[in-house]
Amino acid sequence: MQPSRKIIHCDCDCFYASIEVRDNPHLLGKPIAVGGSPNHRGVVATCNYEAREFGIHSAMASATARKRCPDLIIIRPDMEKYHEASAQIHEVFRRYTKLIEPLSLDEAYLDVSDSKHFEGSATRIAEAIRAEVKENVNITISAGIAPNKFLAKIASDWNKPDGVFVVTPDRVDAFVEALPVKKLHGVGNVTASKMKRLGINTCGDLRKLDETQLTKYFGSFGKRLNNLSRGIDNRPVKTDRIRKSVSIENTYSSDLPNLKRCLEELPYLEIQLAKRLNKLKGRYKIRKQFIKIKFHDFVQTTVEMVSSQTVTDNYSELCSKGFSRGNKPVRLLGLGVKVFPLNEEQFVGNTSNVTETISRSSAHSIENRDELTDQNQATISKKNIDNGDADQLKLILD
Ligand SMILES: [Mg+2]
Repeated sequence: MQPSRKIIHCDCDCFYASIEVRDNPHLLGKPIAVGGSPNHRGVVATCNYEAREFGIHSAMASATARKRCPDLIIIRPDMEKYHEASAQIHEVFRRYTKLIEPLSLDEAYLDVSDSKHFEGSATRIAEAIRAEVKENVNITISAGIAPNKFLAKIASDWNKPDGVFVVTPDRVDAFVEALPVKKLHGVGNVTASKMKRLGINTCGDLRKLDETQLTKYFGSFGKRLNNLSRGIDNRPVKTDRIRKSVSIENTYSSDLPNLKRCLEELPYLEIQLAKRLNKLKGRYKIRKQFIKIKFHDFVQTTVEMVSSQTVTDNYSELCSKGFSRGNKPVRLLGLGVKVFPLNEEQFVGNTSNVTETISRSSAHSIENRDELTDQNQATISKKNIDNGDADQLKLILD
């Protein structure tokens, strides 16, 4: 038998609203919602617990929310601020495991089965993460700990807000047996009322039906229901997402003074990019090449061209073009490709642009560069959202 996995589901409590209250203490204790204007068909993205008491919830029209609670304070979302907090939170996660599956800005699955921290105690890791997020970001995050993703997600919600709940392997059976079917992902109002008509209220009730019967009543969902009702969920924590771009960038410890020096750096970056692309072999097709330049005064520019492969001369051309826009010393140079997946079905989950950032002295040898790359973390690049990528925006709004 395989050893039991240790999965933590971390989820901040009313994330956007918490950030706003954090930054505006006079909002403390008042009903607030983050979202669009009630006068312009806006919707609520998140609201705090004070607002929830009025029956307000996310995705509700702001106008309806205001009607339910005339004192509701509606704040426009400040995505840049939320991304900054999200990056800090993910930094905390990464201290404990590399196996992280982000679900949204404030929510992720962590597989800590092999983590050496706290003698491998997932509960203590979760508590440490919660304490560090409180300390560093000054908002609360709830955590659920269980042997799989399905149960970890339910567990993180169990003692919300600012709560933690553990489903140990020996308690899985009893926990799931009593679990109301409404708690199962995929069981919405329609399915729940159908189940109710069939006399099914808990997972224990579901277990009385075999897979054939479940498939008869619930179609293709039947098989999954059969597993869930027994607490079985073998889905791995997936760190792989649909990539929209792959790039490498480097911030130089001393600025590159001129175009010649920039051009000289390109081959090193290209080597790194080639390595990254190698890992994705056969799964993506290149559609564009691009160069990113940040000048010493932090003014940034990106130049791109349509291309189906990485052509060295193209990068030189893009670099010259980008440099001429500022004609001043460069602190950061990046190059990459925009890609699309060859087979979208193989991916489940979020889309992202992945940028690897390397920091090193410009005097390092190639060998050193390689070493540095291996230590790098792939990060969801906030800048790509600012570039107006529709899918990426969807990710935020989700
Ligand atoms: Mg949340």
